[in-house]
Amino acid sequence: MKSWTKYAYKIFCFIALSSLLANVTRAQQRPMTVAESSNFTATSRYADVMEFIRELQSQTSLIRVETLCLSTEGRAVPLIIIGNPVPSSPLALKTDKKLVVYFQANIHAGEVEGKEASLMLARDILLNSKLPYLDKLVILIAPIFNADGNEKISPNNRPDQAGPEKGVGVRHNGQNLDLNRDSMKLESPELQGLVQNVLMRWDPVLLVDCHTTDGSYHEEPVTFCWGLNPDGDASIIKYQREKMVPDIIKTLAEKYNTLSIPYGDFRDFRNPEKGWEAYSHQPRFMTNYITLRNRLAILNENYNHADFKTRVLGCYNLLFAILDYCHGHSEEISYLVAEADRKTIQKGLSPTSQDAFGVEFEIKPLPEKVTVQGWEMEVIPREGTWPEIKKTDKKRTLIMPYFADYLPKRSVPFPYAYLLPGADSEVIKKLLQHGLILEKLTKTATLEVESFRLKEVKASERLFQGHRTNEVKGEYSVEQREFPTGTIVVMTAQPLGNLAAYLLEPESDDGLLVWNFFDRYLVPQWGRELGIYPVYRLLKSMNLAKEILR
Ligand SMILES: [Zn+2]
Repeated sequence: MKSWTKYAYKIFCFIALSSLLANVTRAQQRPMTVAESSNFTATSRYADVMEFIRELQSQTSLIRVETLCLSTEGRAVPLIIIGNPVPSSPLALKTDKKLVVYFQANIHAGEVEGKEASLMLARDILLNSKLPYLDKLVILIAPIFNADGNEKISPNNRPDQAGPEKGVGVRHNGQNLDLNRDSMKLESPELQGLVQNVLMRWDPVLLVDCHTTDGSYHEEPVTFCWGLNPDGDASIIKYQREKMVPDIIKTLAEKYNTLSIPYGDFRDFRNPEKGWEAYSHQPRFMTNYITLRNRLAILNENYNHADFKTRVLGCYNLLFAILDYCHGHSEEISYLVAEADRKTIQKGLSPTSQDAFGVEFEIKPLPEKVTVQGWEMEVIPREGTWPEIKKTDKKRTLIMPYFADYLPKRSVPFPYAYLLPGADSEVIKKLLQHGLILEKLTKTATLEVESFRLKEVKASERLFQGHRTNEVKGEYSVEQREFPTGTIVVMTAQPLGNLAAYLLEPESDDGLLVWNFFDRYLVPQWGRELGIYPVYRLLKSMNLAKEILR
């Protein structure tokens, strides 16, 4: 070889080797979240999240990304799908027994540790082939559910929260809506996308919704709770409360060295021993909504006074402990949710007097007490407002009743079907958005039904999420009524039968009547009387001439 050729050859070899080495180094480089690379002083922006996901995609074929929704401000909200092999669509899972679980973070975009923790979890599962999960699980992650809220990062948001010091996003989405109050009215692209592109498309057996607490002082960095609405399947609530949550608390302590307690707040800061109370039962809260859909749900709330790193790592450990549980109990969970669907259909096919549906609820303590590592509190009275509550340095172990059992105070008989003769297009659209099966009468039918005559309609004085929510009183009466061809029929014998009832019952405390979908029909065109609620309850099973509404 001539000397210049030798020289060129050497240069070529050097470039080729350098490029190979660079690729190897790059392939071995694990992407870091903004939380990690900033030493937990900052949180990821939307572009950081998308870049992190792209980096994972460049390193492994076990990940795919779908779009959960397009946010109000035009951001494509990513839904990460992790599997081995990664399913190209839910159809690929039809012959596969794998469980689909769904982790969601940043619904309140000031509460950001779930976003960082779920990205770290995705990376560590994808790039560590020794972890066992993917033989039994497909993991879906929406790390930045409220992308629009996330981008309004400011150190002034959530001033009582311990970091990250460079700031966090805001609670509301791009429409100024709280997404954790939108599950029944589905007014946001995020919730509509969740129902359509996650729940209906992938049917995850479990939803985990990550938040940060706002109130009580305690030592445990991680708190979490199950779905609480008692109109959901009782065996799912019992399973989560008595088996799954205690087991995960134990795993967190023993395997991940992380203290956790069931989520709650002191009922009375001045007398903490009066009890520890979980959150509301209403299905506007996503985890309760999931319970009405016969699936498992976990509300995760990390302790807002713990520093950001502790919160991120606490949440990260919780997500792993949840995966451990699902991996170890996948057949049991599959059976549980399939049974819940079967029982709901069975109940709707021939409802009995035992099949009551709660419309008013009260909260009771569970048989077991809860132990919380708290502090002595100082209560400082303030003129004309609530007293200031301050924590002292004196630790105090509190063993308290845990109020987390909602029971119906008043119920109505569970019906066979609901009949909507008016066929209001907005109502139909909403019911279909939830994934309910709707049918319509193909022949006029005279039926004995129960109607609800309104006696009082009270719109809330204070606006809530853009609504003056309704509270109603009225009387039921049984009547023979003719329903024309085209009347919408919502059978309760469907997997979402409990959700159908919660949306359509006249006295439901979180149904479509509450959220103003029936406002036009509550008062007749003439006279001073109030109207009849335009949804009729058919109590007994009956052969109806009908067809599926498409
Ligand atoms: Zn929250």
